[in-house]
Amino acid sequence: MTHELVTLGKTDVRTTPLGLGTNAVGGYNLFPNLKDDDGLNLVKAGLNHGIQLLDTAFVYGLGHSEELVGQAMHDFDRHSFTLATKGAQDFSSGEQVINNDPAFLTAQVDASLKRLNTDYLDIYYIHFPDKQTPKAEAVGALQRLREQGKIRAIGLSNFSLVQVKEANADGYVDVVEDEFSLLHRDHETDLMPYLADHQISFVPYFPLASGLLTGKYDQSVQFPADDIRSQISDFQEPRYSQALTAIDQVRPIAQAHQATVAQTILAWYMQNPLVSVVIPGAKRAAQVEANAQALEVTLTAAEYQTIDTAFAGFKATANGKSLADPD
Ligand code: NAP
Repeated sequence: MTHELVTLGKTDVRTTPLGLGTNAVGGYNLFPNLKDDDGLNLVKAGLNHGIQLLDTAFVYGLGHSEELVGQAMHDFDRHSFTLATKGAQDFSSGEQVINNDPAFLTAQVDASLKRLNTDYLDIYYIHFPDKQTPKAEAVGALQRLREQGKIRAIGLSNFSLVQVKEANADGYVDVVEDEFSLLHRDHETDLMPYLADHQISFVPYFPLASGLLTGKYDQSVQFPADDIRSQISDFQEPRYSQALTAIDQVRPIAQAHQATVAQTILAWYMQNPLVSVVIPGAKRAAQVEANAQALEVTLTAAEYQTIDTAFAGFKATANGKSLADPD
């Protein structure tokens, strides 16, 4: 591996700059019809090929992704990888309500530990902010769980910069996970520099723009209406053609490294000083194995800059997120 381990926030948690997103594991509702065995195999493939961070969440299959990740990691030394999960979705009323109440988050952590069949979580993220709980109180609950040894790093996901500042009032926050990719660069000018200045690690999600940034699509692509990608703005014109043009500029760089476009773009994130761990998702073990090879790709400063410039049009677009946050 040519990339060094990264340290998360102010903790002693150290991991690879490449992780594995597992929201497809267990047939998460965005991606139905995935078999459990495929999910188990792709998690094992990640750990077998040098990826040391697994990113899951309660809401991925309402606990099923966590259960499968727990099963898959059973064959591996628990101290050899970093386990991250998230919670905040409360279904006790019969429908999804975002809940950051300290007692609710505390119970959620215990439930995640049980599903994952482990006695500690390396990162616990509040998956979404709610409207009523003071942010520092929610984080305070996680700090108490840290003191009890149940979690090692405190994370926030889908919090705005203002909300991150409020949540970090006592300096307890270590990691923030939010959407960021070469096609969604809005956080580069505000959220990400703030995090870097406050020793908070940034973990971008949707780094491959749901597969678009692997370079495998062309103008002829069409998704069925029930495929989530038919609703995502990156796949709509004129953004789609602009993305394809930028991706074409990555191809010669990929060729020079005998790498794929996906590996080259993942290497770009790993060399971005404002990014800590990039967590591409996958549907099959072969994709995870291929993505793990990105750990061997090191771009020159000129190559890094060429990619940066090719996607400069996607900076500060205020295009928003690919998917709407839950209320
Ligand atoms: P992504 O990483 O942008 O895209 C992953 C998709 O790209 C895969 O499912 C696969 O889809 C395709 N792909 C991956 N590697 C490939 C390869 N080598 N060759 C060809 N195609 C490849 O998006 P994501 O998986 O939805 O998100 C990443 C992770 O971020 C998630 O797994 C999750 O852990 C996290 N996340 C967090 C939040 C949050 O609120 N915190 C929200 C969303 C996601 P196809 O095979 O279908 O093309």
